[in-house]
Amino acid sequence: MMPAPEDGRRTWDLVVVGAGPAGAAAALGALHARPGLRVLLLDRAGFPRDKCCGDGIAPHVFDVLRGVGVDGLANGWTPLRRLELSREDQVVTGRLARPVWVIPREVFDARLVDRAVAAGAVLRRRRVSAVRRVGDRVVLDDGTEARVVVGADGAHSVVRASVAPGPAGRRALAIRGYAPTSAARHRRQVIRYGDRRQPSYAWAFDRGDGLSNVGYGELVDDHAEGGGAGLTRTLLLEQLERLLPGTVPDADRWRAHHLPLSGWRWEQPDGPVLLSGDAAGLINPMTGEGIFYAVATGVLAGRCAARAIADGDGPAAGHAYRDAVRRLLGRHLKHTWVTARLSRRPEVVDAGIRAAGRSQGVFDDLVEIGLGDGRITPRLAAGLATELVRTATRPAPQPIPR
Ligand SMILES: Cc1cc2nc3c(=O)[nH]c(=O)nc-3n(C[C@H](O)[C@H](O)[C@H](O)COP(=O)(O)OP(=O)(O)OC[C@H]3O[C@@H](n4cnc5c(N)ncnc54)[C@H](O)[C@@H]3O)c2cc1C
Repeated sequence: MMPAPEDGRRTWDLVVVGAGPAGAAAALGALHARPGLRVLLLDRAGFPRDKCCGDGIAPHVFDVLRGVGVDGLANGWTPLRRLELSREDQVVTGRLARPVWVIPREVFDARLVDRAVAAGAVLRRRRVSAVRRVGDRVVLDDGTEARVVVGADGAHSVVRASVAPGPAGRRALAIRGYAPTSAARHRRQVIRYGDRRQPSYAWAFDRGDGLSNVGYGELVDDHAEGGGAGLTRTLLLEQLERLLPGTVPDADRWRAHHLPLSGWRWEQPDGPVLLSGDAAGLINPMTGEGIFYAVATGVLAGRCAARAIADGDGPAAGHAYRDAVRRLLGRHLKHTWVTARLSRRPEVVDAGIRAAGRSQGVFDDLVEIGLGDGRITPRLAAGLATELVRTATRPAPQPIPR
C-alpha cells in the first residue's frame, strides 16, 4: 500500500532524500518560501549521526542559513581566526577575515535537521534505493509519491544514479580521526600539502574543546589498477603521520569517505528531480570543502521546488534550479577548476603560500575561493605571477668552493 502524507493525501509536495546539510537546507529553503508545504525528509540514518568530514564550517554556511531564518547553530563552539598553510619549508600563518568553526558533524547536522523539522518537515528513517518519473510525479521505490524530489543523498547518491546515470567526475578519498590538540595547533586550522596526486594534504583543525579533527586526503587515480582503489587506509595514515608527525598514534574514530569534486561545468537534468550537495558532485576541487555548496544548493533546490509546486508545474523545477545554481556558482566553479589544475604543480602551491605571506589581500582571496564562492581576483593572479617569476629568476645556488 502506498504510504501517504500525514494528512491522508497521496502525494507529498516535496520529498528530500538525505538529511545532511544539503537535504536539511532543501527542506528549509522550501518551507521558508512556502510555510504550508508538505515536505518529507528521508534519511537511512537516525540523527544524531556521525559523518566522515573535516568538520570545518565556513562563515558562508551561516550566511546562507540566516537567509532561511536559521541562526545559532554554532552556539557553544569556538570560532577560529588563524589558518596555517604550508608545504615543505614554505609556511604562512594568516588571520582569517571572518572566523571559521570546527563543529563535529554529529552535532552540526543534528542541529540543522532539528531546524528543518521545527520549520515543518516530516523526518522519517528510510533507505531509498531508486526514484522514477511517472507522468508529472516522482515515485520512490516504496511507492511514496512527490511532485518534486531533491536528491541530497551524498557522494554515492542513488537519486543521481536514477536520473543522471553516467560516469562520475573526479573524486578524492580522505580519512579523518580525532586527536588531542597539541599546543602548537591550538586555536587554528593547519593545512600541510603533500607531494602525491593533487589535491593532497593533511589537516589538523582545532575544535576548541581539547580535540582536533585530523586527516589526510588525495585525488583518486581512476586509471589506476582496481579503479583507483590503490589508496589504502595504511597509505592514507602514513601520509598523515609523515606530514603532521605525532598525529596518528593518539587519534581514534578513523573513517574514510569519497569526495566528488566539482568540474568545469555543472549539470542538472530538466524535470522534477533536483540534485544538491555531494549528490550533485559539488565539492571544491582545491580544498575539499563541500558544506557551503551543500547548503547553498540545498536552499536553492528547496526554493525552486516551492516555486514550481506553487505554479502547478513540478517538472519545471529542474530547469529553474539549474539556472539558479549556475548564476550563483557557475563562474566560481570555473575559477576553482582552474586553480585546482594550477595547484597540481608544487611550484604554484609554493608561490601561493609565499604570495599569501606577503599580502593579506591575497591571503583573503585564497580563503574566499577555497571556502566560499570567491574568484581568481587580479591581485591574486598578480601575486601568484610575481612569486613564480621571482622563483624562476632567482640565481641558482653556487657550488661551495673546495
Ligand atoms: C574526510 C572528509 C573531510 C571533509 N572536510 C570538510 C570540511 O572540513 N569542510 C567542508 O565544508 N566539507 C568537508 N568535506 C565535504 C563534506 O563532508 C560534504 O561536502 C558534505 O557532507 C556534503 O553534504 P551533503 O548533505 O551533500 O551530503 P552528506 O553530508 O553525505 O549527507 C547525505 C545524507 O544522505 C543519507 N543517505 C545516503 N544515502 C541514502 C539513501 N539511499 N537513502 C536515504 N538516505 C541516504 C546519509 O545518511 C546522509 O545523512 C569533507 C569530506 C570528507 C570525506
